[in-house]
Amino acid sequence: MLIVVAAAMIDADGRILVQQRPAGKPMAGLWEFPGGKVDPGEVPEAALVRELNEELGIAAEASCLAPAAFASEPLGDRHLLLLLYALRKWQGVPEARHASALKWVRPLELHGLDMPPADKPLIGLLEALV
Ligand code: C5P
Repeated sequence: MLIVVAAAMIDADGRILVQQRPAGKPMAGLWEFPGGKVDPGEVPEAALVRELNEELGIAAEASCLAPAAFASEPLGDRHLLLLLYALRKWQGVPEARHASALKWVRPLELHGLDMPPADKPLIGLLEALV
């Protein structure tokens, strides 16, 4: 089982941040909620704080991460469990450090994006959250 954490970062206008997976990575070109793998022995919230800092250069407090939803998907010969947290407060301005692009979108616009299979089922839940 691969455990992955991701953030639905929600700005003051109710838009959500998505990032585009870069060329050379699996699922290149798809838009995803920022996040990544939980390391062995790592608490999920700490993993997400670390990933958001590495990928976007922002600082977030673990106590600001609100568990929002999860999705479970087969991934090749493994299984992926994606834990999504809502985040409304952070320090810094997100920069695309690993992604090829970032964009802020309305929840309804997420339906029009090509997203990884684990991210897609979470879109409907975000409409209720924002
Ligand atoms: O970004 P990274 O390649 O480390 O992500 C690990 C795995 O988690 C990949 O298989 C990626 O597709 C998946 N993932 C996902 N949705 C996200 C973030 C990562 O399905 N929002």
